[in-house]
Amino acid sequence: MAEIQLTFPDGAKKTFDQAASLFDVAKSISTSLAKKAVAGKFNGEVVDLHQPLLEDGAIEIITKDDEAISLKAIWNTAAFVLAAVLKQRYPEMQFGEVNATEDGFFYDTDNQNGQLAVTDLPDIKKAMAKLIQSGEAIQRVNMSMADAKALFAGQTYKLALLDKVDADQVLVYQLGTYSDFALAPMLAKVSDVKFFELLSVAGAYWQGKSSNQMLQRVYGTAYPKQAELEADLQRRQEAKERDHRVIGNQLDLFFVDPKVGAGLPYWLPNGATIRRTIERYIIDKEVANGYEHVYTPILANLDLYKQSGHWDHYREDMFPPMDMGDGEMLELRPMNCPSHIQVYKHHPRSYRELPIRLAELGMMHRYEKSGALSGLQRVREMTLNDGHTFVRPDQIQNEFKSILNLMIQVYADFNINDYTFRLSYRDPKNTEKYYDDDEMWNKAQDMLKGAMDDLGLNYVEAEGEAAFYGPKLDVQTKTATGNEETLSTIQLDFMLPERFELEYVGEDGEMHRPVMIHRGLVSTMERFTAYLTEIYKGAFPTWLAPTQAVIIPVKNDLHYEYAKGVKDAMVKKGLRVRIDDRNEKMGYKIREAQTSKIPYTLVVGDQEMAEATVSVRKYGEDNAVEEASDMFVNAIFAEVGNYSRD
Ligand code: ATP
Ligand code: ZN
Repeated sequence: MAEIQLTFPDGAKKTFDQAASLFDVAKSISTSLAKKAVAGKFNGEVVDLHQPLLEDGAIEIITKDDEAISLKAIWNTAAFVLAAVLKQRYPEMQFGEVNATEDGFFYDTDNQNGQLAVTDLPDIKKAMAKLIQSGEAIQRVNMSMADAKALFAGQTYKLALLDKVDADQVLVYQLGTYSDFALAPMLAKVSDVKFFELLSVAGAYWQGKSSNQMLQRVYGTAYPKQAELEADLQRRQEAKERDHRVIGNQLDLFFVDPKVGAGLPYWLPNGATIRRTIERYIIDKEVANGYEHVYTPILANLDLYKQSGHWDHYREDMFPPMDMGDGEMLELRPMNCPSHIQVYKHHPRSYRELPIRLAELGMMHRYEKSGALSGLQRVREMTLNDGHTFVRPDQIQNEFKSILNLMIQVYADFNINDYTFRLSYRDPKNTEKYYDDDEMWNKAQDMLKGAMDDLGLNYVEAEGEAAFYGPKLDVQTKTATGNEETLSTIQLDFMLPERFELEYVGEDGEMHRPVMIHRGLVSTMERFTAYLTEIYKGAFPTWLAPTQAVIIPVKNDLHYEYAKGVKDAMVKKGLRVRIDDRNEKMGYKIREAQTSKIPYTLVVGDQEMAEATVSVRKYGEDNAVEEASDMFVNAIFAEVGNYSRD
């Protein structure tokens, strides 16, 4: 029999029969190692433990201690069992991509005779459990590409996936009559999948392209221990309860209808109220801090974005230009910087005026990939709380600090506590990707770091994360689903002032070039609202809540007029309040006010009317307290007035 030579991580070499697997190798070392082994590496790539090895190479055995790879093996095997069961139940079914992600597994399916529904999952799960109990071993066969293509004949998607495999041999897994590939590493036998759950079914375009056929993606997860599975399901449940798309729907905040436009959100009255409140707050805050707000068009001649460099560096994210037919090409802006530069350039500027701080709630359009779109979190039309400050080089550090201070104040007002700072530098090994001025980079990076240290703030440093025009500070937060997203950003820019030949007259009477600082305090209205919805779980603080109080008359015919008086007093102070005079039971109305997460529920009946009081129940509290009605109105007005003069 032919032999192969395998090299161990310590450099030792050993000879094995050809087609030996890493499991055989582990066994030859010790039974306990073989027991613990879950996968291996062959020439640096993760491979299946039971895959027949055909040639010499460097090996490594991966044990259960490597949690990430162990989970991947479990998830791959569970996905395989899922497909085997589906194939039994729906012999016509076609299978697309399968993947073990960071967060479980999925399998794309295309059922010719009727789509899979969530209601099918329990039966499918039962069938999987049965197959798992059977303990059948999974066969591994190395096949030539030609044999594999013959085996998967008729499976259109699988054939397309095979076409992408750049090898002459394919490792095929077989269980009874079911065959599959591209699932390494997998566990030895189906019974090694211990605790699993099928989570959901959702539409997914074949290979993520919206021009392709829509398939159905079945999601699942699995673990070696019951407690681990339970903890994961619990975490998912909590994430769902926080998910701004779910809450947005419950509280009627916004909707996105892909038929009308994917990534183009509609703000319903409740969501619009929250947004308007944020917008007013931030404009007031900025004006108080020396910013001048402007309005600039969302369309501009394409030449503007050619001059700025967006057309060369950012085109993939831009909507295609509009040909106006008379030679003019108009472009929907992907960023507001070139617009604010026009404002700066409109007048000659002197050193005495700097820093000039221009701000705008600037609408912009970015052609984000359809697979990346998510509620308000990632959209294609967005309004950024944008600002550009134009400074003299000697003012950079102070300006950076004052922006940062302002940001920290704003975060405190929204009660945002869970965030981290990331200082992003250029990649020192790849400097040609960046604006070419070594001295500028070194100075600017040191300056940012110095400012962070002066302010005593913790941060991580990320090489290679800078924008191509300068270093930046990003504020990172987490979404309900656990993804890290940038919320705020402060970016130094030495390039655009150069490209647009920005100038100011210096103290010496000579022309000088300013530096630009791009900053977004609370990001886009879309992403910020999504974020707030998730951190508050929909229970917005009073100043932001779409409805701040609901008044429930005990009996409409007796107490409505009194309720109306309380309401009018509140409306006069600019508070958002309504009376619930529907013909429903009082308990029902109170419960509904709670599920709508309205900050205050006021009940008024005989006693309240006689004593000029209201019975106040705060959101989340069980008991109501009686308060003089004018005291209550003043208190809620004061609470809200700290933030906004709505
Ligand atoms: P990301 O990496 O999140 O795509 P970016 O680095 O391209 O963002 P900037 O050009 O700095 O973003 O945009 C400013 C801010 O606008 C970002 O920090 C982010 O909070 C927000 N933002 C960017 N793209 C979107 C989007 N598609 N939908 C909603 N908000 C967005
Ligand atoms: Zn900018």
